[in-house]
Amino acid sequence: MEFKLNINDRFNKQLPADPVLENTRRQVKEACFSYVIPKTPSNPSLIHVSPEMLNHLGLTKEDSNTKDFLNIVTGAQVIPGTRPYAMCYAGHQFGNWAGQLGDGRAINLAEIKHNNTHWTLQLKGAGETPYSRSADGLAVLRSSIREYLCSEAMYHLGVPTTRALSLALSGDQVLRDVMYNGNPEYEKGAIVARVAPSFLRFGSYEIFPSRGDDKTLKTLVDFTIKTHYSHLGTPSKEVYIAFFNEVVNKSMDMVIHWQRVGFVHGVMNTDNMSILGLTIDYGPYGWLEGYDHTWTPNTTDSTHKRYRYGTQPQVVLWNLYQLANAIYPLINEAEPFETILNAYTSDVQVAYLKMMRSKLGLQHEEKKDAILVDELESILQLSETDMTIFFRNLANLKKAETEDWLPVLKDAFYRPTEISDRIKQRWSNWFLTYGERLSSEALTDEERKTHMNRINPKYVLRNYMAQLAIDDADKGNYDLIDELFNLLKHPYNEQPQLEKWFAKRPEWARHKVGCSMLSCSS
Ligand code: AMP
Ligand code: MG
Repeated sequence: MEFKLNINDRFNKQLPADPVLENTRRQVKEACFSYVIPKTPSNPSLIHVSPEMLNHLGLTKEDSNTKDFLNIVTGAQVIPGTRPYAMCYAGHQFGNWAGQLGDGRAINLAEIKHNNTHWTLQLKGAGETPYSRSADGLAVLRSSIREYLCSEAMYHLGVPTTRALSLALSGDQVLRDVMYNGNPEYEKGAIVARVAPSFLRFGSYEIFPSRGDDKTLKTLVDFTIKTHYSHLGTPSKEVYIAFFNEVVNKSMDMVIHWQRVGFVHGVMNTDNMSILGLTIDYGPYGWLEGYDHTWTPNTTDSTHKRYRYGTQPQVVLWNLYQLANAIYPLINEAEPFETILNAYTSDVQVAYLKMMRSKLGLQHEEKKDAILVDELESILQLSETDMTIFFRNLANLKKAETEDWLPVLKDAFYRPTEISDRIKQRWSNWFLTYGERLSSEALTDEERKTHMNRINPKYVLRNYMAQLAIDDADKGNYDLIDELFNLLKHPYNEQPQLEKWFAKRPEWARHKVGCSMLSCSS
């Protein structure tokens, strides 16, 4: 090893013993994880490395240029002194109980400690595990680019998220039927090295009560508390309840951030809900372009739209109910759970309104703000209006001149000429109220703009931007990955030389696969 990773065997020792060591497809009982060796890639090569994440792990750029680094982040070499493992979990998918799922293509390499932070390093797409069911355990370049760019972009937006350390090609070909229409094609295989304090999901807990295995449930919950919620104290009934309460609050915080930046996860199944309230498992996610509560990027969800933008906060609650059911056997009392879950319903509305106030540059609270926000959301959906551009440009409005809203906001409308007089009138009325509301605020126009520009990003990973990077990468050109990666490090800053990314989605991308339509095939 030419570079040093501070492997934290405190974690490895504390993990419950795993009786299942063979790598075969099966139901894995009484175990939280299974040891597994990553598949050896045929010709691994690095595409991109996150300098910030390197730094968090105590590594340098020189470290990332070594053969050891390449081998480790592509599964060609196991870090000496470690035993990689895949985690066992279950989950509710699209509202239905799905039984055992597990890390079908994710392998945890090691727990690493740096600067008092504990990280788990995980490979996604590094081959089969006991949880792969009928799939191959691999990932393709297209979905790996999307995860790599988006998870780092989310971090820089201030959204709780798992991170990405590196993006690499495996050198292998992977067969995928992108639109599930019987036309499978070979695509380049890729591996993302992901990093998070933990990859435990709601589904990690759900699996045990479904099997009547309260003993392993307790082992895992106690482990989670000792490792990630140790400030709550020694596990006890009270601590379990306090733990659940914190998970509720963290999950709420996460989803409010999603609503703030216009992120739609796409597959909010309970196996994709982190126990730390992190955005996890970037699949058919998307970013709102036209502000639309009914939009989902996931074609698999196009009929019922369970995971559409507007319902994300409610889906989090539904998922929290499943987590409550899962850990109930440790407490055997429904009331504490009910109290916490009922509080979510009102708290999430308060948190949402607070967030929307900040997007509007309002500092103090007024009762009628809820009406102002409601009406704004309705009008935004009357004609296609770009969410990011709207809120960013709103900060340029002067409080004494809100009747002059059209020149300031015209760039946000996809079809400005089609905005009817009726819609214009509603906008004018809204701006009149907004202007009055602003006049009761102490901030100057310039101060308000500074505040708003810290909340409303200028640059997000629009769906077509990721697709352009994918198209180039398929041809072996990775410049755009690097350009977008760097752009999205400073999403709230003006970046005049990259202003071209502050633009509405181009028309060609409106109905293009990968831009507006994404499948789970990855
Ligand atoms: P997702 O909806 O992407 O979070 O995945 C749901 C489940 O399918 C998880 O258990 C994944 O590990 C598994 N899975 C997805 N893709 C693959 C694959 N290519 N190989 C093995 N398992 C997979
Ligand atoms: Mg998943």
